[in-house]
Amino acid sequence: MICRVCDSLRLDPVIDLGQQPWCNHFLRQEEIGKEPFYPLKVVHCADCETAQLDFTVPKETMFGDHTYLSGVTRSLSHHFEQVAHEVNQRFFSQHPDKTVLDIGSNDGTQLKHYQKLGWKVLGVESSKGTAQRALEQGVPTQNVFFNQINAQGLGGPFQVINASGVFFHLEELHSVADGIRSCLAPDGVFLVQFLYMQKIVENGAFDQIYHEHLLYYNLKTLERLLQRHGLTCFDAYLAPIHGGSMMAFVQHRDGPHASTGREKAILAEEERKGSNRKDWYLKFAQRIARMKRENIEILGERKSRGKRIYGMGAPVKGNTLLNYFQIGPATIDCLVEKNELRRNLFSPGMHIPIRMENEIATAPDVYYVLAWNFKHEILKNHADLLARGVEFLFPVDPDWVA
Ligand SMILES: [Zn+2]
Repeated sequence: MICRVCDSLRLDPVIDLGQQPWCNHFLRQEEIGKEPFYPLKVVHCADCETAQLDFTVPKETMFGDHTYLSGVTRSLSHHFEQVAHEVNQRFFSQHPDKTVLDIGSNDGTQLKHYQKLGWKVLGVESSKGTAQRALEQGVPTQNVFFNQINAQGLGGPFQVINASGVFFHLEELHSVADGIRSCLAPDGVFLVQFLYMQKIVENGAFDQIYHEHLLYYNLKTLERLLQRHGLTCFDAYLAPIHGGSMMAFVQHRDGPHASTGREKAILAEEERKGSNRKDWYLKFAQRIARMKRENIEILGERKSRGKRIYGMGAPVKGNTLLNYFQIGPATIDCLVEKNELRRNLFSPGMHIPIRMENEIATAPDVYYVLAWNFKHEILKNHADLLARGVEFLFPVDPDWVA
């Protein structure tokens, strides 16, 4: 294994979450026990300091047929709308013919907002069904994996290239980065949105670590990767979406956009906190291990008093947590979920059955909330259950501050 960013051999293990199944594939009854397990271990590069997984599940397994649709979440769609407006206003309001490319365009939600502003759009989406759905809604989309070779056939250059979330899990990282440089217009803006590792650690959100996320960037480590491919960041800020998403504005190394200074302030904060250093991650690993002991203890205590426990929500990230904590159906009877696509399925690895929210006749004594990042919303929506004495347990405390 060499570093995915700088090719160094000096990779040190920092976080080990054990053997885990691919967390995005909920199981049918007949698939139980047949799912493969893969190591889920984060290593830290002593040279470029990028945190990354040391094992890659083949991308065809992970992205051939995923069921997550960005259009489903209203708050996400609103965020995408704001992004399109910001980019249009700040950089291209006077530009006559403008084109945007979205890498990992999903069902076209982001691009629809650009279309409304008069942009020509193109999406690249590796999941066939999802690409088809975007096409049906009038969003031009190619069903390919983006890389340097495929980039040539897309008809650039593009004023804007957008990548939300996907920069984490690109197996062909350098080919992708070269492809972006080759089809970005000379005055173009590459907007990369990613879960910010410093924030993940500060929030204790270790369940964001899963096989789809091969890389865990801070701004400094992202910049190192960009530099290697003739690109550079000239502005960045933290958006509240997903509990802390970094928005990095990138251009060619000799591009025309002036630095706003905000990216420098973030880099200085990373330096001050030491969030790119190995010991920062080792401390995080200790905290995760402590969380495991505490969670097992508290659930065991409720169980010993005969309490009935249900999981609330069956988010993909919940599987990292359940498998690492080794919490299964002996502790949690079922996971209560709204998403109809998960009806009658079982959680991978721990095999907890999923039940639909509208079919739960009696509430349990305890809800173990896997979608813990929505704590305040959940407590508000379930005031009636709280009043009746149902206990809500949160495996990770979102109010915790490092
Ligand atoms: Zn490296």
